[in-house]
Amino acid sequence: MKNVQFGKMKLVCECGGKPQETETMWKGIIVREWKCPKCGEELIHPADAQRALEIEKARKKKELVVKLRKVGKSSVITVPQILTESFNMKQGKKAEWNVEGEGKFSISIT
Ligand SMILES: [Zn+2]
Repeated sequence: MKNVQFGKMKLVCECGGKPQETETMWKGIIVREWKCPKCGEELIHPADAQRALEIEKARKKKELVVKLRKVGKSSVITVPQILTESFNMKQGKKAEWNVEGEGKFSISIT
């Protein structure tokens, strides 16, 4: 998920400060951004902003809500298309469940 362009872009803030590459939480999703240490001005990476907006839209349309299905003895949860596309999840990748609490889990795709 590395974007070489991102690191190469040199920005100068209106205040004359030199924005630093960092990450921030935006609309519940971690996005890359440049932040000016002088005035605090932030610029979110356009590709990440686009992705966050699309995921937010899908969330509002309930496209991130899927039903549990039974296959053999296991329950199956499908990954919404917006996520497989946005995060380039290919077949054959491994998914690991993390238990965060009652009724709450996260999945790491590696
Ligand atoms: Zn600035």
